Amino acid sequence: MKQSIEAVALCRSPYKQKFAIPRQPNLVPAAIARLEMQGECNRAECLRGLDQFSHLWVLFSFHENLAQGWKPTVRPPRLGGNARIGVFASRATFRPNGLGMSVVRLHRIGQEGKQHFVEIAGADLLDGTPIFDIKPYIPYSDALPDAQGGYAQTPPPSMPMRVLPQALAAMEEAERAHPGFRTLAEQVLAQDPRPAYQREAGREYGVQLHDRDLRWQVIEDTNCVTDVVKC
Ligand code: SAM
Repeated sequence: MKQSIEAVALCRSPYKQKFAIPRQPNLVPAAIARLEMQGECNRAECLRGLDQFSHLWVLFSFHENLAQGWKPTVRPPRLGGNARIGVFASRATFRPNGLGMSVVRLHRIGQEGKQHFVEIAGADLLDGTPIFDIKPYIPYSDALPDAQGGYAQTPPPSMPMRVLPQALAAMEEAERAHPGFRTLAEQVLAQDPRPAYQREAGREYGVQLHDRDLRWQVIEDTNCVTDVVKC
């Protein structure tokens, strides 16, 4: 059975590359993304009543991965990157229909000119992600406290962040340009986004958040920001 679907919104997110995006929503509450409503859905009436809910389900496309296709088994980082499990026993980003789903906090609903939008907090979405559906989160049916989490019982451990003296002025400038930038950086780095196969001491990493290239090293299990460069 085939069904063609069209994006109802486009995600504008601080995450300009896949690297360092948290692996699930709500791990970085400071990440505010904007869902810009598209086409027929760019109308106030489509969003009427949504503000009664604190959280939303967002269904979307892993659009940057579609070209690479999918495999029946995947190797989740959670299992050390070697053990294979079925793609449907994972939240892998390479899937038969390339569909993702995230539950996120509703930040605000607004309009700028003719553009209606829904801002969400804690998204794990790349900038430019096509959104296929938005639904209210309904606690009485969606919150299941006795559910079993299999191999994904707990969130990843959290690593502290320090801004080195040479990066202080640049971090303050980024904070002026993007209020909340420092908290966003702290929460993103707390997830320790370094690739498992690339963790040698002294290595410098970089990730683009908004229009800033955040550069850091891990020293004694602490993320040490070495610079924040305007892109
Ligand atoms: N919460 C969703 C789910 O369970 O379907 C996504 C989980 S998935 C593991 C989260 C990762 O998807 C992020 O870390 C990021 O690397 C990747 N991602 C986010 N947006 C994407 C996009 N538009 N295309 C490809 N990968 C994307």
